[in-house]
Amino acid sequence: MLLRAKSLSWGKSSFRDAFPSMPSFRFLLVILSLAVTLLSGCVPTMTPMQRVPQTEISPEDRQRAEVAVARLVAVGERMEPQIEQECRKRTRKLNCDYLFVVDDRLDLDANAFQTTDRSGRPVIGVTLAMIAEVRNADELAFVIGHEAAHHIAGHIAARERDAAVGAAYMGRAVQAQGADPLTVQRARRIGAEIGSRLYSKDYELEADRLGTIITWDAGYDPLKGAQFFLRLPDPGDKMLGTHPPNQLRFDVVRDTVAQLRAGKIPAGS
Ligand SMILES: [Zn+2]
Repeated sequence: MLLRAKSLSWGKSSFRDAFPSMPSFRFLLVILSLAVTLLSGCVPTMTPMQRVPQTEISPEDRQRAEVAVARLVAVGERMEPQIEQECRKRTRKLNCDYLFVVDDRLDLDANAFQTTDRSGRPVIGVTLAMIAEVRNADELAFVIGHEAAHHIAGHIAARERDAAVGAAYMGRAVQAQGADPLTVQRARRIGAEIGSRLYSKDYELEADRLGTIITWDAGYDPLKGAQFFLRLPDPGDKMLGTHPPNQLRFDVVRDTVAQLRAGKIPAGS
């Protein structure tokens, strides 16, 4: 499924890096599609494994796939009510009926993203490579909590506003110098790109903070979960980069957990 437009995401290595010895992807796809069904609210009347056809797959890969799917279902079930509660508490008139999906394209990097469908329903997606990449439930919970926070904080709309302001500013600037319409159009595009990046890092840090609170309230360990950052390639502190340096993100998580432990952020607040 294609849900990349207007999404806020992060990424890492490919599925094949994470599952180098997987002889066939069919097995994982079948159980993952079942996992999505479970997360979508269908009552699980049978365990996912009972429907999986017998394929040539090593016991080791089978076990890894089983662990990955069981983790996804368990984390999704525990995080969903917490996310929706947090969303309803912090927003007004926002659609808080989250849909969780797995993007099953095999060539995608490990990634999680947040977007909205046409009706405004928030969608949180994870790629297969992401499910294979996380090392424990806390990491997966943290990734999901972070993406959920983007929606609660209204970051997609904020970035669209930033882009519109940037486009208008740059367009006016070149127009004032007598530029032709094509040049003005190009300037607007560049302005939109710059504008959308202007506060991008702030939004990421804000999502890390709120994501930490949601993860904590759901009973997972955000500090353990944020270890995931430390394995990502560090984007560094680039001007107009989309993501902050990994260490800075980890520091935000650590500080937020310290506040939670000290009771400075009451549970469920
Ligand atoms: Zn993000």
